[in-house]
Amino acid sequence: MASLRRINQDDLRNHNLSVVIDTLLRNIEPMSRAELAKATGLTKATMSLLVPILIDAGVVREGDPVAAAAFGRPSTPLAIAGGVLCGVGMQVNTDGYGTTVVDLDGSTIAGEWVERPMGGSDPAEVFAALDELVARHEREVTARGWRVAGAGLALPGLVTDDMRLLTARNLGWADLDLRRFDVVARLDARGGNEANMAALAQIPGYATQRRRKGIVGPGDSFLYVSADIGIGGAYVRDGRLVTGDRGFAGEIGHVSLSLDGPRCSCGRLGCLEAYVGRRALVERAGLAHGEEAVRIESFEALAQLLRAGESRAVACADEAVRVLSSIVASAVNMLDVGTVLLGGLWERFGSGFTERIEREANAQLLGRPAVQVRVRMPEVGGHPALRGAAKLGLRRFIDDPLGFVGGAEG
Ligand SMILES: [Zn+2]
Repeated sequence: MASLRRINQDDLRNHNLSVVIDTLLRNIEPMSRAELAKATGLTKATMSLLVPILIDAGVVREGDPVAAAAFGRPSTPLAIAGGVLCGVGMQVNTDGYGTTVVDLDGSTIAGEWVERPMGGSDPAEVFAALDELVARHEREVTARGWRVAGAGLALPGLVTDDMRLLTARNLGWADLDLRRFDVVARLDARGGNEANMAALAQIPGYATQRRRKGIVGPGDSFLYVSADIGIGGAYVRDGRLVTGDRGFAGEIGHVSLSLDGPRCSCGRLGCLEAYVGRRALVERAGLAHGEEAVRIESFEALAQLLRAGESRAVACADEAVRVLSSIVASAVNMLDVGTVLLGGLWERFGSGFTERIEREANAQLLGRPAVQVRVRMPEVGGHPALRGAAKLGLRRFIDDPLGFVGGAEG
């Protein structure tokens, strides 16, 4: 991801604008020019050159001046403005496909999800349908005055930085050059694994306005584990997604817990996914097998039996707690990360589930009792990968503001 950059006046201005926007996005409250200067380390003189560029472009607005407490001039609060720039998120998952359009201010302005079992689907046909869906919402938001800053695409598989899908076993897709699909080329979309995108959605102030204090802050580190048929993982260090050499670091679903465990879809034995993926849970509870176990209704049945205290379902949840607490402990030992977010279908297991995993994981940590891990459900649910993909699209603006706003003077 690293790139060599020429440093000239425009680059410097672009960098400074990027820092100012980033700072405003991460701050819950509006900030005065003086507060921005202090937070960014830029001079007040530089700030008075940069801020008008953002105000003229409509991405920052001035609030009513606030009188200074003791002496000095009243200060004018600056805040990120909505209604100008948006990011388009796209996702193909095992249970359907969809799009969402997110404003820089964090509000969702359009979107749609199409429920459909996607295993064994034809990529060309799916991307054509996605293109049609996205184009409709794109036309709608641009007619209402927004400009699309960029787009992101979330897929349930290994996506490289140069937009190749190496494999998505639960879709039956392999070795696809994603740029050959019109919707990807047209929007110059950046792709990624769904867990990576869902993790981006959890980082407050990453490309959209932070609204409140939550489980994690903008510069925090955490491990995100997402669960559907497959188990995905993403590692965020100091507010940045760690993507690895090729773009798909964090595949915790294929960490093996047992050399003679159940066979995983990847061919190995005892992978996390083979114990606690959606299909695996249903099969291990003896509720259904094969294609029947993949159906979302089969998992709903399991969740219902669990609520009713049915013994096979309870044993299955107990095993999931054992398996997940072991993998959380291993991950914390390896990454030294203080927070683990468990996203996806596990929210159906009730709030006590994460508490049990936290307790059992903490009892296994190498550095216990000094080292402790928090295990929580993520705050952004629904289709978090879709929202993260939209944020990745918006990030284009934050990384290169001059590509979108004026600033003609050298
Ligand atoms: Zn595996």
